[in-house]
Amino acid sequence: MRAVVFEQYAQPAEVRNVPDPVPAPHGVVVRVEATGLCRSDWHGWMGHDPGITLPHIPGHELAGVVAEVGADVRNWRPGDRVTVPFVCACGSCASCAAGDQQVCERQTQPGFTHRGSFAEFVALDHADVNLIAVSEELSSVTAASLGCRFATAFRAVTAQARVAPGEWVAVHGCGGVGLSAVMIAAAAGARVVAVDLSPAALDLARKCGAAECVDASRTTDTAAAVRELTGGGAHVSLDALGSAETCAASVGSLRRRGRHVQVGLLPQAVPVPMDRVVALELAVLGSHGMAAHAYPPMLDLVRAGVLRPDLLTTATLPLDAAPAALAAMGAAPGSGVTVFLPGT
Ligand SMILES: [Zn+2]
Ligand SMILES: [Zn+2]
Repeated sequence: MRAVVFEQYAQPAEVRNVPDPVPAPHGVVVRVEATGLCRSDWHGWMGHDPGITLPHIPGHELAGVVAEVGADVRNWRPGDRVTVPFVCACGSCASCAAGDQQVCERQTQPGFTHRGSFAEFVALDHADVNLIAVSEELSSVTAASLGCRFATAFRAVTAQARVAPGEWVAVHGCGGVGLSAVMIAAAAGARVVAVDLSPAALDLARKCGAAECVDASRTTDTAAAVRELTGGGAHVSLDALGSAETCAASVGSLRRRGRHVQVGLLPQAVPVPMDRVVALELAVLGSHGMAAHAYPPMLDLVRAGVLRPDLLTTATLPLDAAPAALAAMGAAPGSGVTVFLPGT
């Protein structure tokens, strides 16, 4: 099969022929129809993820068709259209037993713990736990965008932050996960303040329902700007980028008793202003993907047109465009979502 391969961290990847993957007894191989580019692919390519072994194939946001099924798989057949959460759970640890597959103790992640979906085919583990059926009316491009950023944002806004109508929600960083969070929070009835360095990203945020925008290239104190726009601070603030600066700005944006949700992945520990956390009784929450069993309510809102993940996709490109796009992700986290089509 054709796949995007890198031999060394931070060195150009290339598209080449590699052996097809084979399914584990509990797994499947999926023919990839669409696969999204995410900032965590860039982190992996840069060498920030200790779980990766070289040479490596990135890619973890995918939709496609089941091509091959392991002997122990019960619920899936060749020809089924599917997507997966980026955290593939084991189905048998204590976290999985509690329904918290998104923090599974023995999780695998395509594109990190094994070869990913920037390829014609990808192997996925524990298919009966992790696969999600994709109905005919949802395109593969849109379905691919659900597996990482959209689902992560959905869980962050609805399950972790429990955003209520009328609340102020600040979103720091308007790449794929941030724009998803803006859309989901606005649909939940919140008033959203979007924060980003890029005017193009802020334009997209407005289209996704942001009521206010803070151009971080024009102010040195985005937290103060959010507090002023919201009459004393947001009820909920998300760091959707994942950096020391955006994490601190998110915590600094909150009013008393506000909730910070860390959504953007952090390659290493960053300082959190705990003096503010204790003095204002803030809550600090993490959000790490979403379990497959939690997808149906989100898919219902997508089907009903309340949520429009299709609006976030700004480019669909052939797989040959992936190496350059991967390298460019660091310089510009980007506005909107780029999706590759390995079949083209
Ligand atoms: Zn991702
Ligand atoms: Zn588990």
